[in-house]
Amino acid sequence: MDKQQEFVLRTLEERDIRFVRLWFTDVLGYLKSVAVAPAELEQAFDEGIGFDGSAIEGFARVYESDMIAKPDPGTFQILPWRAEAPGTARMFCDILMPDGSPSYADPRYVLKRILAKTSDLGFTFYTHPEIEFFLLKDKPVDGTRPVPADSSGYFDHTPQNVGMDFRRQAITMLESMGISVEFSHHEGAPGQQEIDLRYADALSTADNIMTFRLVMKQVALEQGVQATFMPKPFSEYPGSGMHTHLSLFEGDRNAFYESGSEYQLSKVGRSFIAGLLRHAAEISAVTNQWVNSYKRIWGGSSRTAGSGGEAPSYICWGHNNRSALIRVPMYKPGKTGSARVEVRSIDSGANPYLTYAVLLAAGLKGVEEGYELPAGADDDVWALSDAERRAMGIEPLPQNLGEAIELMERSELVAATLGEHVFDFFLRNKKQEWEEYRSEVTAFELRKMLPVL
Ligand code: GLU
Ligand code: MG
Ligand code: MG
Repeated sequence: MDKQQEFVLRTLEERDIRFVRLWFTDVLGYLKSVAVAPAELEQAFDEGIGFDGSAIEGFARVYESDMIAKPDPGTFQILPWRAEAPGTARMFCDILMPDGSPSYADPRYVLKRILAKTSDLGFTFYTHPEIEFFLLKDKPVDGTRPVPADSSGYFDHTPQNVGMDFRRQAITMLESMGISVEFSHHEGAPGQQEIDLRYADALSTADNIMTFRLVMKQVALEQGVQATFMPKPFSEYPGSGMHTHLSLFEGDRNAFYESGSEYQLSKVGRSFIAGLLRHAAEISAVTNQWVNSYKRIWGGSSRTAGSGGEAPSYICWGHNNRSALIRVPMYKPGKTGSARVEVRSIDSGANPYLTYAVLLAAGLKGVEEGYELPAGADDDVWALSDAERRAMGIEPLPQNLGEAIELMERSELVAATLGEHVFDFFLRNKKQEWEEYRSEVTAFELRKMLPVL
């Protein structure tokens, strides 16, 4: 037994923890959990806990359903909303096949695989997400419009604003679980919040995002409201993005940084951005995986002045240009040696493991093949005409899930990064979602057509 495992077993006893939840994530990004008694844990560390994978989205075919969840002791945390004795703790798990090999269906493994390749190339991949979400009074599931939990706006600071108490409690809870928060504020739409996590290696960030979503939902319930990470719950307000800042390090050195070059960006940084741009359309089905995701990045009404609805719709990069898909944030003089790129397409409904895996694959491909960075866009690309954008070589992101699926299906990069099993399952599942959506006669059509036809 290693030191981390011993620490977990000792803590269980000292803190009177009676329930240990083993967490993992299905292919669509839903958190799964199985609780074990502390007495079972020693064995779980050795051999893992068996479960029926066929019941989990994307995990197994029925005839090969036995799978094993093996807890990662480095992720042990006590759940603060179950802190009073006897308490509850959690660990993230790696999913294994019955023969002990890593499961090809485990999103955490998909990310680990490309992180291992990154490390072979001498790099560590860091990410820093800005997570937006809504607080709602309720969550109607019959298709009626939800009601935001407050009526504040961007950076508003008003007493009796449910968001303020909410953020204080939520951040305290996150920090007690070892998740550092950098920044938090009210976002542009009524009920909309943003909390930015401190940068960490991509695997820890992805784990942290999964924890974050659960903590937000938990704190919301305690305050009598509901949290949602749906990308675009309201037509007239901005959607919820999960902009993420990315950087590669070589040891202690930021590999994107080069003093004196344009925007302080090194060759590695420039090629990485070029990779993100060239592969942006084919990875879209992963970074924006729902039918609803495309209502956010379409641009339309979400960019009404003052609404803060700054979701990207076109494939371009810019220096401090919020209409661009990729933004190179302003260089901060005090922060010598630091450079990063912000990817603004990702939404809050994404599976963080798969999303970071495909972004990393796209960027690395640019670095490995020495892609040239195209010229940046200084203009507000939403304000240009289609013809002007075309003349500048700026393509739109896929317009809907159907288009995104088609592009993904032809992508060698996504197939190689996700692996055959996740790739096939994902496409099958998303095609079904798209078919279901397409076949539905919507309230929009009835409203527009019935009166006139
Ligand atoms: N809510 C916007 C989005 O959907 C982002 C606003 C901001 O710049 O933070 O991406
Ligand atoms: Mg924001
Ligand atoms: Mg941002």
